[in-house]
Amino acid sequence: MKILLDMDGVLVDFVAGICKWFNKPYPYDLPESKGVWDVDRLLGIRPEEFEFCLNNARFWRELLWTNDGTKIFNAAYKCAGEENMFLITNPDGASYRYLGKADWVRKNLGHLWLDRTIMVKDKSLLAGPGRVLIDDKDSNVDDFLANGGEALLINRPWNELHSIAASPVCRVKAFLEHLRRKVAMK
Ligand SMILES: [Mg+2]
Repeated sequence: MKILLDMDGVLVDFVAGICKWFNKPYPYDLPESKGVWDVDRLLGIRPEEFEFCLNNARFWRELLWTNDGTKIFNAAYKCAGEENMFLITNPDGASYRYLGKADWVRKNLGHLWLDRTIMVKDKSLLAGPGRVLIDDKDSNVDDFLANGGEALLINRPWNELHSIAASPVCRVKAFLEHLRRKVAMK
C-alpha cells in the first residue's frame, strides 16, 4: 500500500497562512462559510493580491502545520512505513510555489523527504490498485476513486464533510486500518 498525503489543508495550514498574510480573521467559524472552498472569496481578497501572495516562495515556506497535521502524518507513517509514503501537492504552474513548497518540506521534514514529494496538478494520474490518497479537496478524492485508487477526504470546514465532527486523525487511522485488513484478507 502506497500512501499519498496531500500537503495544503491536510498537513499544512494554508488558511491560517492566508489570514496571517492579509491580516484577516479566520473565516470558517461562521456558519455561512462552511463548505466554501475559496478562502480568498470569503475574506474579500482581490484576485491580483491573492495571486501575488501565492507566487511568493516565502509564503509557502513559512506556513505552519495544521493542528492535527503531525498526527495525521504519524498515523500514515506508522501504517505504511517511510518507503511507502509520499507527499503530494499541486504547485499550480508557478516556479515560486515549487520552490516554497520544497523549502517547507526540507525545513519541516528534512531534505530526504524531497525525494518523496510529488508535485502534480492531476493527482489521479497516480491512482491505481494499492494507491491511497488522503486529501482535503472533494474533486481530488472523487477523481482518484474514479481512476481505481483508494481515497479519504479529510473533514475540513471548507469541504463537503464540514459537518462531520469526528476527529480527522481518528478517521485516518480507521480508514487505513480498514484498508490494511482488506489487503490482509485477499
Ligand atoms: Mg489540499
